[in-house]
Amino acid sequence: MIRENLIAVRKTVPSQVRIIAVSKTKPVSDLQEAYDAGQRVFGENKAQEMRDKHAVLPQDIEWHFIGHLQTNKIKYIAGYVSLIHSIDSLPLLVEVDKEAAKHDRVLDCLLQFHIATEETKFGLDIQEAEALLQSPEYKALQHVRLVGVMGMATNTDDQDMIRQEFRTLREIKERLALSYFKGHPEFKEISMGMSGDYPIAIEEGATLVRIGSAIFGARNYAV
Ligand SMILES: *Cc1c(COP(=O)(O)O)cnc(C)c1O
Repeated sequence: MIRENLIAVRKTVPSQVRIIAVSKTKPVSDLQEAYDAGQRVFGENKAQEMRDKHAVLPQDIEWHFIGHLQTNKIKYIAGYVSLIHSIDSLPLLVEVDKEAAKHDRVLDCLLQFHIATEETKFGLDIQEAEALLQSPEYKALQHVRLVGVMGMATNTDDQDMIRQEFRTLREIKERLALSYFKGHPEFKEISMGMSGDYPIAIEEGATLVRIGSAIFGARNYAV
């Protein structure tokens, strides 16, 4: 079903929006099936799981890290990851910079914002992000590049609420772009929208959508 699901999802996503196939908890054979259907961008939320899948799957896959990242696990992904969506503190960004330096890479990252009402979700608020961007420690980093923002909407049936949260994330991105990224057109990405809410996210300006269950089917355990 994965090929059929992918084809159906692609029909609903405009070409300028990139689909990240969120393959967490799924076996390598499922990722291979999506790969064979043309998918090249995959998202994982556990560093060791990404490492293990990266080791056995085709090398032209673009790996996106979308989960909460612990500093002692960065080493498992720093050598090949394409984009880290989940930077939620300066210390984390500093550690990513250190690990990227070991591989002589400049790693693209997104700032994750807390836009949902649920306390359990991770992410910065605008004051914390501005403090990060103004800090001398951030300005000294040579091996990371911020290319946009990421957020997760509240898990709710209230479509207006979801839309408002996505709109807030877009406004945050526009505000930061104006204040801190003049002359840096690469700060343009808005990673928002999952299987249940990605059409709204696209209407509100998403450039990256993170789609798991609509492609791979329901996951067996909650993560
Ligand atoms: C699991 C996950 C997704 C995908 O969720 P689905 O509802 O299965 O599409 C997207 N983003 C993040 C951060 C996730 O952890």
